[in-house]
Amino acid sequence: MQVAHHWHADHLIREERCPLCHERSSTHLFIRQDGLPLEECTACRFVYLGVRPDESALHQYYAEHYFTGSFTNSTYSYYFDYAEAVIDLNYCPRLQRLEPFIAQWQGKKVLEIGCAAGATLELLRRKGALVRGIEISAEAVAIARDHYHLDVSCVPFEFFFLANQSYDVIMLFDVLEHLPEPGKTLDRLVDALVPGGFLAVTVPNFSCFDQLGAAWSGVQTYWEHLHYFRPDVLLATLQQRGCILTEIYSFTAAGQQADKGVVQMITEARRVYFQNLLDKFPHLHHFKRFFRSLKFRLTGPPALPRSPDLSGMDMFCLVQKKEDEQS
Ligand SMILES: [Zn+2]
Repeated sequence: MQVAHHWHADHLIREERCPLCHERSSTHLFIRQDGLPLEECTACRFVYLGVRPDESALHQYYAEHYFTGSFTNSTYSYYFDYAEAVIDLNYCPRLQRLEPFIAQWQGKKVLEIGCAAGATLELLRRKGALVRGIEISAEAVAIARDHYHLDVSCVPFEFFFLANQSYDVIMLFDVLEHLPEPGKTLDRLVDALVPGGFLAVTVPNFSCFDQLGAAWSGVQTYWEHLHYFRPDVLLATLQQRGCILTEIYSFTAAGQQADKGVVQMITEARRVYFQNLLDKFPHLHHFKRFFRSLKFRLTGPPALPRSPDLSGMDMFCLVQKKEDEQS
C-alpha cells in the first residue's frame, strides 16, 4: 500500500485563486491521503490543491533522489535504466505519439520541459533536431549532460528564460501537473512557440475521478501532483491561448487501475515485447530487473491502446499555435 507523503506544515501554502483562471470561488471535492484538499474552480472546472507544498518544499522533493528510488515514492526507480534502454534501441514510445504529426525533425528547434535523463531529446537529436531541455533533478541532469552531451538547464521552470517565438516543438510529458502555476506556464510556452509550432502535453485524466471517485489511483499516489485536468478543460485553456487541436486521446498504462482485461492484455504484450528485445539485444540483459518490473509507467510497447472516449487514466494532447492572422 502506498504510504502518504508528509509535507512539512511550515511549507504548505493556501491557494486563494484558481491557478489556471484566477477565479476565487471553488467547490471542495476531496481530501487526499497526504491531507491536501482538492478544490474545483467554479468558473473553469479546473481541479487544484486548495493547500499545496510551496516551491521550496517541491524543489527539495525532486532534489532528493526522485528518479533513483531511494525515496518513499519509488515509482521512477528504474528510470535511468529505461532511458538507456530506449536510446540503445533507438525507440521511444513518447516519440511515437508525435511522429504521425511531425514526421520531419531535421533542423526543428525542440524544447522539453522535465526531460529527466534526456532519452527523448537524445533520440530527436539523432534525427537532426536542435534540442534543449529543462530538468529540476540534478542527478538526471548530470546523466543528460555527461552521458549524452545534451544542453539541459538544471533550473525550476519559473526561473528559465524563454524567448518569444523560439521553438518549433515544446513537449511536457507528465510534467504540467507538477508545476505550481499552470496558467502562467501555458502562457509562456505558447508565447515561446513559433506560429504553427506544436505543444505536446501528457497529464493524468481527471475524468477518471468523475467515474471512480477516491478509488482512482491518480488521487491515491503521486502527492507531488498539484492539479488535475479534465480533457475539455485542458483543451479549452489551450484554445483560449490561440492553439488549435491536432489530437487528443486517453490511454492507460499497465499497473494502473483499469479494466482488468485491458491491463492483462497490455502486460502480456509488454512481456512478449521485452522478451523479444532481450533476445535481440543481449547486452540489455543487465536491465533485466527493469524489464521484469512491469509496474513502471511505460507508455510502450507499440500498438498502445487508445481510448477515444477519453476514459483512460492519462491523456495525450497535441495542439498547434495558430499562424499569424496577417501572414
Ligand atoms: Zn479556474
